[in-house]
Amino acid sequence: MSDLFKNYIDGKWVAGVSAKTFENRNPANRNDLIGLFPASDVTDVDAAVQAAKRAFPSWRLVPAPKRGELIYRVGELLRKNKEDIARSMTREMGKILKETRGDVQEGIDTAFYVAGEGRRLFGETTPAELPNKFAMCVRVPIGVCALITPWNFPMAIPTWKMFPALLCGNTVVLKPAEDTPHTAVRLVEILQEAGVPTGVVNLVHGRGEEVGAALVRHRDVQLVSFTGSAAVGREIASASGQDLKRVSLELGGKNGQIVMEDADLELAVEGALWGAFGTTGQRCTATSRLIVHHEVAKQVTDMLVARAEKIKIGDGLDEEVEMGPLINQAAREKVLKYIDIGKQEGARLLMGGSVYAAGSCANGYFFQPTIFDQVTPSMRIAQEEIFGPMLAIIKIKNFEEAIDVLNGTAYGLSSSIYTRDVGRAFRAMRDIEAGITYVNGPTIGAEVHLPFGGVKDTGNGHREAGTTVYDIFTEWKSIYVDYSGKLQKAQIDNAE
Ligand code: NAD
Repeated sequence: MSDLFKNYIDGKWVAGVSAKTFENRNPANRNDLIGLFPASDVTDVDAAVQAAKRAFPSWRLVPAPKRGELIYRVGELLRKNKEDIARSMTREMGKILKETRGDVQEGIDTAFYVAGEGRRLFGETTPAELPNKFAMCVRVPIGVCALITPWNFPMAIPTWKMFPALLCGNTVVLKPAEDTPHTAVRLVEILQEAGVPTGVVNLVHGRGEEVGAALVRHRDVQLVSFTGSAAVGREIASASGQDLKRVSLELGGKNGQIVMEDADLELAVEGALWGAFGTTGQRCTATSRLIVHHEVAKQVTDMLVARAEKIKIGDGLDEEVEMGPLINQAAREKVLKYIDIGKQEGARLLMGGSVYAAGSCANGYFFQPTIFDQVTPSMRIAQEEIFGPMLAIIKIKNFEEAIDVLNGTAYGLSSSIYTRDVGRAFRAMRDIEAGITYVNGPTIGAEVHLPFGGVKDTGNGHREAGTTVYDIFTEWKSIYVDYSGKLQKAQIDNAE
């Protein structure tokens, strides 16, 4: 008998109304069934939204420092259970233990960072223009928030959204990705243990087109916070536009790392390997383009291939393994499709390009680290998000061309430049079109107290994490207190 998991609605673990379920299997070994999860429908979504709606009036009145204390307790419990959650996350999602530990750590960092915000959550005061009058702005919660999340950071991304949303006084319904429902259950169990009041947090499993879409369209959902693909982000934005809902979108990337001829090449290669093949290339911030100065291109390429060939592929639960599987069969087909496209476009396949099925890997969705060179900036493999262990090397003549190439895609999430020239580094910081720029570091490695997000098709202008996340989860209210005892009329009384 496999484990049968449930939704969490109104403070109780409940089966889906239709009793239909879907399977969650280990991508490193398809024979390993983690469990069955409810394939929920609109009725379950409505129950969760109604529970969140009922919980909102009292939760918004809990003082923010108290809400922060609850989140602090959640952080402590995450810390206590870190290793166990990391192991179950690797089993469910495939990335190696070092990375799943990092994923849980991101949740812990977010909890402690957000908890402290309970005693800040600053507003503003400013002088009023009339005598005996006081003016201030305060943050107020929005209401029921739908949080729709992808599978590649099964703990970090839900916590980035949920902890600030709760701290600000909102109630939430979480819809995790179909490939990683178990980590979401672990998170909600911890919230329950920490004492989250009934209805404040709800969890509904199921398909995006059904559960996600129903949440987006629900009249009592005031805000949708979505991380995922640009295609789904566009659908959510247009559906929410009809209802004038607040929507924050964190979407795809086609991140580039520039390597100039004066760079520390060892460091640049190490960064490119981690950026391109960490999480099997399945990060929104993954390095998928290496933009290299022609004078060092051959050397960098040779170093990179020599190192990439040694990457140990396998089950992420083995501490020796450096790269786990892709998430599912569709992801593997997508990478294979782009390998054909790359070849047809005239790029040269330097290494990899095939499924990896040695030994026990035959039962999982493993793939070889893949590198193309002779890539030109307009090729589809240099333009479209592939989300796999695939790196495209593009040669450039000078700094200006490097920046043009880096900026020449529809996305603008993360970016990187390796150079020892401080002037070039500052010009890159100024001219790169991206939400995140690293100097002498890879495109991955964001910290939770800095804003996270991107420009162009990577989103719609919001930034998670940092202090900017509170602009997503609160409304500003301006308040005037007139203690003059008479009618004062702003611009009219003030006329010259
Ligand atoms: P996805 O868009 O397929 O799914 C994301 C979530 O949306 C899932 O929970 C899914 O069930 C749900 N969904 C699907 N269709 C829906 C619909 N019609 N209405 C409402 N919800 C729907 O993305 P994915 O494959 O899970 O994740 C990979 C993508 O996420 C990549 O494009 C990656 O770049 C992006 N991503 C972005 C960031 C960021 O912060 N910018 C972080 C991680 C991942």
